[in-house]
Amino acid sequence: MAQTISMTKSMGNATKENSLLKSASTEDIYREILARIGEDPHRDGLLATPGRVEKAMAYLTKGYREDPNQILRGALFDVDYDEMVIVKDVEMYSLCEHHMLPFFGRVHVAYIPKGKVIGLSKIARLVEVFARRLQVQERMTRQIADAIQEAIAPQGVGVVIEARHLCMMMRGIEKQSSSTVTSAMVGVFQKKETRSEFLSLVRAPGTPTL
Ligand SMILES: [Zn+2]
Repeated sequence: MAQTISMTKSMGNATKENSLLKSASTEDIYREILARIGEDPHRDGLLATPGRVEKAMAYLTKGYREDPNQILRGALFDVDYDEMVIVKDVEMYSLCEHHMLPFFGRVHVAYIPKGKVIGLSKIARLVEVFARRLQVQERMTRQIADAIQEAIAPQGVGVVIEARHLCMMMRGIEKQSSSTVTSAMVGVFQKKETRSEFLSLVRAPGTPTL
C-alpha cells in the first residue's frame, strides 16, 4: 500500500515536470542546459546562443518536415536506357541519434533503370532529406536505396556511404582517420558482377559522375 502511494506521488511529479518543460520555450531549455554544463548563460558571448542553437537544430533536422517521395515524384523521366547510372561523392552531413553529434562523409548512389530515371539533382536532395534527421548510418543507407527502389522500380539500386563519426572521434573511441563504410544493395546489385562494377567505379579517382 505504501508503495502504491509513493509510486502515484512520483508519477504525479513526473507529469508536473513534463508540463513545466512543455511550457518552456526551446531557448529557455537550451539556456538551462548551458547552466547545467557549468556555464553562465547570461555572459555576453552566450546571450544569443540558445536562439542560434534552436535555429541550427531546426535546420539540421529539417528532413523530418520533408517527404522523400514527393521530391522524387516531380522528377521522374521515361528513358530507353539500361546501363548503370552513378551519382558519386554526394556530400552528406548528419547527426547520430545516439549522441546527437555529427557524422559526415560521402554518399555514392547507383541504379540500373527499367524504363524510368530520376533527375540527377534529386538524388542529392534525397540524401539531404534522410541526412537531416537523427540517424544511424546503416539505416540511412537502406532508406536511400529503398526510396529509389520504390520511386522507379529499377533493375537494382546500390548505395554506399563512407562517413566519419565525431561521436567516436571526439571521444577518442575511434582513430581520427578511420571511416565507417556501409552499403545497401537491392535487386541486380546483389549480383557479384554488378556490385563489383559499382564499387570499382566508386573507387576510381576522377571518374566522371553522370
Ligand atoms: Zn553517436
